[in-house]
Formats: sequence, structure tokens, C-alpha cells
Amino acid sequence: MSDLVRRDRAVTWHPYTQHGLDDAPLAVRSARGATLTLEDGREIVDAISSWWTILHGHARPELIEAMRAQASRLDHVLFAGATHEPAVALAERLVALAPSGLTRVFYSDDGSTAVEVALKIALGAHVRRGEPERRVFVALDGGYHGDTFGAMSVGDPDPFFKDFDRLTFRVERVPCDATKIDAALERLGGAAAGVIVEPMVQGAGGMRFQNPEFLRDVRRVCDERRVPWIADEVMTGFGRTGRLFACRHAGVSPDLMCLAKGLTGGTYPLAVTLATDALFDAFRSHDRARALFHGHSFTANPIGCAVALASLELVEREDVPARLDRAGERIERELRALLPRDAPVADLRRMGGIVAYDLVGSGSGYLAIDPRALRARALELGVLLRPLGNVVYAMPPACIDAEGCSAVARAMTALATSRRD
Ligand code: PLP
Repeated sequence: MSDLVRRDRAVTWHPYTQHGLDDAPLAVRSARGATLTLEDGREIVDAISSWWTILHGHARPELIEAMRAQASRLDHVLFAGATHEPAVALAERLVALAPSGLTRVFYSDDGSTAVEVALKIALGAHVRRGEPERRVFVALDGGYHGDTFGAMSVGDPDPFFKDFDRLTFRVERVPCDATKIDAALERLGGAAAGVIVEPMVQGAGGMRFQNPEFLRDVRRVCDERRVPWIADEVMTGFGRTGRLFACRHAGVSPDLMCLAKGLTGGTYPLAVTLATDALFDAFRSHDRARALFHGHSFTANPIGCAVALASLELVEREDVPARLDRAGERIERELRALLPRDAPVADLRRMGGIVAYDLVGSGSGYLAIDPRALRARALELGVLLRPLGNVVYAMPPACIDAEGCSAVARAMTALATSRRD
């Protein structure tokens, strides 16, 4: 065990980690492109973009320079009663690129807080419009929206949030089916607050794909029932599904949209919740008590905004959605060629740069399989993978090259066959 890992073990508490079981963490010295370099000199392909954040690749010079230049000009300033160029320019850019009708940008820190803000805007708007009884959201089975209490409430409690069941607020959870959403809204009547959906791909729930028709139906149902639709694009945003935003597959606009992770190219914690004018106007008043009482110390941090702007420039200039799509296509093609006919694999699927399959025969769900052996096998082959239960997936950064894609395909093949080796 390296000295760093020994010191780590004495003082840190890692996320989603069972410290009574898990192997020593990877000691990472540096990262460049799609490669992590470990303290012991090993090079590992970051096939999951460091929890779906790294968009272009690690250590992209344009992004580092944007952070450096901004930090030397204005490192931070509060965003209540103050503003600055990077925050305004980024909001302008996001409004221009986002699905139509999303005209206001509220800044926060990460995916969970972006979701909290969306929920509070929806609930607060109902209160301000004289319908305070509208308090129950409709959400999907297998949904994941983050780890803070509001986000946990709308996420599927199984298996992550069961401990907090009695403290989270009431949500109607339904299968991924617009008629079921409609029926839930009907049942709720005047208590319905809105609908929250991860568009096109439910990520942490196991890379479950939807079709665009479903999103069009969600939009229609929300319009008919006159409730807001929250699109959680924290994972899908900025090209992961092969389009800039997943909503674009269906040509629909939500009332609220959450973005984080790839917003800064994965370099810096920053998130946004985009909202319609109608929602913004529900809070605008001469009455101070009607304001949106929400804010974080680092709301609209200038360094984060500057690097997000630089990242967006790269996204457009280099057509990142198309690059991710090509990388995903290559991994899928090689994986299909490598997988033995009788591999215990079902539903090999791809959307944009996301390639996934289900391991069969060991049950499904996050806790069905102990992932340690699978992770270790992938690392032996020089690839960082973190299966979600029995779902093995890759989601690499856009810069991954042919060699990297082949390494990912080989590792995903090895995971499918490792249990009978
Ligand atoms: N929403 C979705 C769809 C996510 O996938 C995640 C994280 O994986 C979150 C929200 C929470 O984001 P964060 O981990 O940045 O709080």
C-alpha cells in the first residue's frame, strides 16, 4: 500500500464507498486527455469520464487557461446584489443554446443543488399563484437526481435512500410510461406539483434508454394537466446522448432544466437551473417576501462561469456531441465483434457516447453484484469502469482515441466473460 493510500485511509471518507470492504482507492497523480496516471506510473483509461463530468478530456489547455485568467482577474464575488461578465455571458450563451422558452439561468454548485432549485422554483411558483396545495411531484421508477433531500425525494429510494424514507417528501413514482404519468397526475388532481424526468437516459438507474416519443408525450401530458416539467439533464447535457441536450432528440422544451457535470467540461463544480419567463415572473414582485430564497456561497463563481464559457466554445467548435457519438459507435462496434456468442449479456445498447449492457444471471439492481472483482479486472486491462450493479457501461470523454476505444471494448468484453474464466 502506498504512503498516499495509507494517509488517505486514516483521514478521508469516500463517497459511495463501503470502507469495511472496498479495495484501496486508486492513487491518481495526474490526468491528461482520456488517461489517468497513477502514483505507481500505471496509465488507466478514464472510460466513465470521472463520474460523467470530464467532457473534452482531462487538462484541456483552453480550459486551464480560462480558469487561470479568470482567477487572476476576479476569483469570487457574491452573486446577491452583484454581477460579473462571466456569469452574464454564460447565461446568455446557455439561453441561446437551450431548448426554446428557457430564458432565465439560476446558478448553483452541482447536479443535486440544480435539482433542489428546480423543485423549489416549481413549488414556490405554485404558492405564489395561490395553489399551495400543489406539492406532490411525479417521478420515475429507477430515477436518480442527486443526494440532497429534495433530490433524494424525487429519486428512486431503492437502494440508496431507504435510510431516509421517512424524512423525504411524498412523490408519486411511476414506470417510464406517459400514460402512467398522466394517470398519476389525474389521481393527484390539485395536489400535482410537476413531473421530473431524466430525458432519454436514466443514468444511475442503470443506463435505461427512452425513446423521443415518450418525451413528447410527457410534454403533452404536462401541458394538458398544466404542471411544469423538469428535465434533469445533469448527466445527459452537453452531448452525452449524441445531441447537445437530450431534449433535442424529441424537439421538446421543458419548463425547468438542470445542468451540471459537463457544464464546465468537468473541471469545476458549477450548475445551473434554467427556467421559463412564466416561472420567473411568478417570483417577480414588489413584495420582498415573494423572492426565491435560495443561494449558495459560491453561486455563479466567476472561475466556474469562465471555464464553462470556454468549454461551450469547444463544444460548438469541435462538435462534441458528434465526437462522443463516434467514440460510442466505435466502442459498440468493437464490443459486438469481441463478445462471445454465449456471453451472459443482454440488451447491449448505445446512445451517443454511452455504451451499456446488462450482465445476466446474477440478478439485477445496484447491490446484485459485488463490483470489486469487475472493477479490478478492468483495471488489470488498464481501464476504469464502475458497473452500476449488473449494468456495465462506458461513457468516455470526447478526446478518446481509437486505441482508447479498443481498450474500453476489450475491458467491457472481459467483464462479460470474467466470471466464467
Ligand atoms: N441528476 C442526475 C441525472 C445525475 O446523474 C446526477 C449525478 O450523477 C445528479 C443529478 C446529481 O449530481 P451531483 O452528483 O453533481 O450532485
